Amino acid sequence: MQYRAHLKLFKGRHNCLWCHITSADLSKPLIQRGSFSLRSLQTLRDDHTRFLSQGQGDIKMAKFYHNVIGDAIFDIPLENVRI
Ligand SMILES: [Zn+2]
Repeated sequence: MQYRAHLKLFKGRHNCLWCHITSADLSKPLIQRGSFSLRSLQTLRDDHTRFLSQGQGDIKMAKFYHNVIGDAIFDIPLENVRI
């Protein structure tokens, strides 16, 4: 799936709310980016669980868990979120 809209919300290696594009790939011209898997509530939960268990909640390790350092505040599917 080609995914072109990226919403940069925070600093870090994975700074798009909607997908797992890296900040390095985000700086490339659009035609060179390729495609990236989309985030979902389940991937956010899984990344957060791994951040706490494997990364021991160390903020320096956040980049290995797609920058998910907190649990989702609302249980609303991302496709229903408009900004
Ligand atoms: Zn994106």
